[in-house]
Amino acid sequence: MEERYNSFAGWCRRTYGRHLYRIALDAGMTCPNRDGTLGTAGCAFCAGGSGDFAVHYEGQRLKPEDFIYTNKEGKEGDYIAYFQSYSNTYDRPERLYHLFQSALSDPLFAGISVATRPDCISKDVLDVLAALKKEFPDRFIWIELGLQTVHEKSAERMHRGYRTEVFEECAAQLHELQIPVIAHMIIGLPDETPEDYYETVRFLNRMKVAGVKIHLLHFLKGTEFGDEYQAGRIRELTMEEYVGAVSECLARLAPDIAVHRLSGDGSGELLLGPEWSRNKKRVLNAIRHEMKVRGYVQGCLYEQE
Ligand code: SF4
Repeated sequence: MEERYNSFAGWCRRTYGRHLYRIALDAGMTCPNRDGTLGTAGCAFCAGGSGDFAVHYEGQRLKPEDFIYTNKEGKEGDYIAYFQSYSNTYDRPERLYHLFQSALSDPLFAGISVATRPDCISKDVLDVLAALKKEFPDRFIWIELGLQTVHEKSAERMHRGYRTEVFEECAAQLHELQIPVIAHMIIGLPDETPEDYYETVRFLNRMKVAGVKIHLLHFLKGTEFGDEYQAGRIRELTMEEYVGAVSECLARLAPDIAVHRLSGDGSGELLLGPEWSRNKKRVLNAIRHEMKVRGYVQGCLYEQE
């Protein structure tokens, strides 16, 4: 490991011999927390699916020049079609098949990464994924699931809309299809303690996820948590707290799990706080430094459960 943790960049180089760049796509989906199926307000931290820079996608052939926010130095096959906005399996199976098959057929992409919710992976969706896996044996299909926390109380407070056991079932089904799962978790949720974050990490170890994205809780305009933050009812983490918590989580994370992210994008103009999170580079450097000071590498406190 060139780094103190199993970074996505290092993992890509070891697995594919090169770096892979995500291209964020918006396939015009919605999600059950917004279309009225489970609610209309969305998760308490979410300002709308986190796809601000995503390119609208209907299955058209793409070129790196089509994107503003991505590295354009890559060659064909160096990019990942990242279905980012909202819940990207929340549509008719025929449409999902068309979208994913188009991206997997595009020589630009080495594979696809599909962000969604575990309660949006039906039997029909699993069938689509299984068929595509057979059709494209030399491309990868990853599923990103927004778990955020293992704790039901926090999940209820953020209106996640599904119980943790739904994640467990979904992860097991994807595992059976040999489709890697990348789980998202949030550090800094109201009333959660560091021990609560470690519980979430232990759960992800048990779920045998292939990757994690660790996000700081950002307070965004137009969200419930943003309003509570402005009213002084939720406090933000200091950078030191976040850096310390991430270091401890990485120490407990199984060493083979790739770390795809260690901080969220602050969503620019929508960000109410924490201000310090705007400087992503500084945060990442502080995490690396803290790991070194504590003598940690990823998994050094991992207990096989
Ligand atoms: S976080 Fe995902 S599931 Fe929750 S409201 Fe936003 S898009 Fe919907």
